[in-house]
Amino acid sequence: MLEAKLQNFIEKELSCRCCGKLIINHEALIYLQAFRYYLNRKYGKNIRIIPTCGTRCYQHNIDVGGEKGSYHLSGQAFDIISPDITYRQIYDAAIESRLFSTVIRYDKSLFVHVDTRKRARYKIESWVENK
Ligand SMILES: [Zn+2]
Ligand SMILES: [Zn+2]
Repeated sequence: MLEAKLQNFIEKELSCRCCGKLIINHEALIYLQAFRYYLNRKYGKNIRIIPTCGTRCYQHNIDVGGEKGSYHLSGQAFDIISPDITYRQIYDAAIESRLFSTVIRYDKSLFVHVDTRKRARYKIESWVENK
């Protein structure tokens, strides 16, 4: 079986912050890695993105005030920051790349949420939260 290699992410940074649970959603991980390559090409240099949140277990999702049906529960969502570009640049690039079906910018917490939930006709939705 063919398996894509994640060059730029390790299990620990994708795992639940409270218990280490990791749900592998290959499709979501491929998109995440593709976004990393996309950024490198867009900026012409190595652009790191750090997942501050990947998988959440049921309890951790409650503890951080996540939505009931959060896509973090199924390993399809990532909250990301970058030491190399701003969170606003991440947001714009994530939409422009068309790799994720959902892109949310958090203007108080200064990170970007991306996920690969299924939408009709591969639609992409993006918005800004004042949180
Ligand atoms: Zn947990
Ligand atoms: Zn999130």
